[in-house]
Amino acid sequence: MSALSDPTAADRPDATTTCPLCDRGEYGEQDLYVHLQVNHRKSTLSEALVDALDVAPTAAER
Ligand SMILES: [Zn+2]
Repeated sequence: MSALSDPTAADRPDATTTCPLCDRGEYGEQDLYVHLQVNHRKSTLSEALVDALDVAPTAAER
């Protein structure tokens, strides 16, 4: 999950990262985008993003 919260990752065009969901590869920004589109379902991406943001299950429980 570290790649999602790394503020410097997007600022370096030549930087590579592993996929935050499956921990594979060394992707540039565009390559990672394509990898996510092709290899991961939208539901998986959504769950991972919500997970990373640490959103409470329901607003009423806050
Ligand atoms: Zn992946």
